[in-house]
Amino acid sequence: MNESLPYKYASKEFQPENTNIEIMDRVIGTSRFHVIAGPCAVESREQILESAWAVKEAGAAFLRGGAFKPRSSPYSFQGLGEEGLKYLAEAKEQTGLPVVTEVMDVRDVELVAYYADVIQIGARNMQNSFLLKEVSQLNKPVVLKRGQSATLEEWLMAAEYVLHGGNSKVILCERGIRTFENFTRNTLDLSAIPGVKMLSHLPAFVDPSHGTGRWELVAPMAKAALAAGADGLLIEVHPHPDQALSDGRQSLTYKNFEILMSELRNMCKVLGREMK
Ligand code: PEP
Ligand code: MN
Repeated sequence: MNESLPYKYASKEFQPENTNIEIMDRVIGTSRFHVIAGPCAVESREQILESAWAVKEAGAAFLRGGAFKPRSSPYSFQGLGEEGLKYLAEAKEQTGLPVVTEVMDVRDVELVAYYADVIQIGARNMQNSFLLKEVSQLNKPVVLKRGQSATLEEWLMAAEYVLHGGNSKVILCERGIRTFENFTRNTLDLSAIPGVKMLSHLPAFVDPSHGTGRWELVAPMAKAALAAGADGLLIEVHPHPDQALSDGRQSLTYKNFEILMSELRNMCKVLGREMK
């Protein structure tokens, strides 16, 4: 093993074969391409139930929705908290879609883990080692977003915290990094996908919604992510993006999501990947 690498468990040297992560009957990290979709935030019972059915019908494998939102302003909608988690659980019960939702605070880990199938660690918390240690104790998959200014090595060190603590189910998620460019919200670093795959056995997703901040760029970047070898996507979809309480500017309508999903399915055929 390369002794100079700061991360061990996350490295390809430690484990040459790809990590596969089973969530219900989905297995991430294989030739199958999985899409996590749903609104940025759970806003109401109706909104999340309706969104869950819409993304399921379009072919999404997971439902997303934030109950605890890391907003830039304290005056912005902060999420419904446990009420939101309950609505997500109801959406799962109705549609059968496993739920991905963010935890921001060590004090909420137990609560979020009770309702969620997959725990999301957001970009702002990627280097919160206390939170990483806490989720390392769970027997639940963790989607680990790349920090806004994190190098691949720093990102893999964050994954190392979770793996070292005993949780081997880490899914990396590239969501754009800070650069001088301000046409986009972030600069989506698609080279990070083949990059982390050179260094690590962990599955890697792409979030073109936060990665661009503009819904018009989401479909092209989603397709590019599939071409770059991503294991899946995380995409924000809202029933009425112009009325969304968060991230409406980057959210797809149901219709645009459905079109994108059918394009991705066609691409999968050419690339030797599968999507349901
Ligand atoms: C989100 O997924 O809604 C989110 C807040 O993502 P990020 O942590 O990547 O900004
Ligand atoms: Mn969002």
